[in-house]
Amino acid sequence: MKNSDRKTGCLEGRWCRDLRIEKTGSMTRLYSFSNLKRQFKDFLNLFLFSINQNKFDIYFLISKFMFLRHQFLCYRSIAVICFGISDIEERIMRIGMGYDIHRLVAGRKLVLGGVVIPFEKGLWGHSDADVLVHAVIDALLGAAGLGDIGQRFPDTDPEFKDISSLKLLSKTYEMISSKGLTVQNIDITIFAEAPKLLRYKTKMQKNIAQAIEIEQDRVNVKAKTFEGLGMVGKGEGMAAQCVALLK
Ligand SMILES: [Zn+2]
Repeated sequence: MKNSDRKTGCLEGRWCRDLRIEKTGSMTRLYSFSNLKRQFKDFLNLFLFSINQNKFDIYFLISKFMFLRHQFLCYRSIAVICFGISDIEERIMRIGMGYDIHRLVAGRKLVLGGVVIPFEKGLWGHSDADVLVHAVIDALLGAAGLGDIGQRFPDTDPEFKDISSLKLLSKTYEMISSKGLTVQNIDITIFAEAPKLLRYKTKMQKNIAQAIEIEQDRVNVKAKTFEGLGMVGKGEGMAAQCVALLK
């Protein structure tokens, strides 16, 4: 919400084309100059106090003229106006991109999207080396402006040795939530020559959706090969990329 923005929104149950919002520190004033019935002109001066506490946006609206005289009306108005404000307030969309690659080695479990997949090799890394989830974490951190996975969960920290990457994803979700951001959708592509991953995709989507507390249909997993080319194509490693949209 920019200072002095003019918006269309709902005020006192009526749609108004000329709402003006002014924000000073934690206090926001809302004015309307048109489309109001005369009997509601007392509502022209409303004070909106916005308190941002972690993931909660709490709004208190007080009509200084109507509060004592028409308490019921005022409560009704408060509800209507709160609703209107959330309609007219613009939330900025933020996009993030993540990429990761890991080497395949013998004697390790292969974990992708939190699913343990039977295979002759596994990905090498400090954690469970879940390349797919690492790409998701980087996309989320990038969108939120919170750096990258190496900064947040360094591979020199014994706390993260062999940790499930889904736990790191949950911690990432807490970080972005504390900035008041929610995940709109996630699109992931995994690059692996073998094994075939089709049968595991639904479970991967479910695991990721649970870790970041969104509906499963907001997480999409695609799998590709490298057509025999390069490190991935020769079966020496796996890579993943992810795009995430936050609001
Ligand atoms: Zn990684």
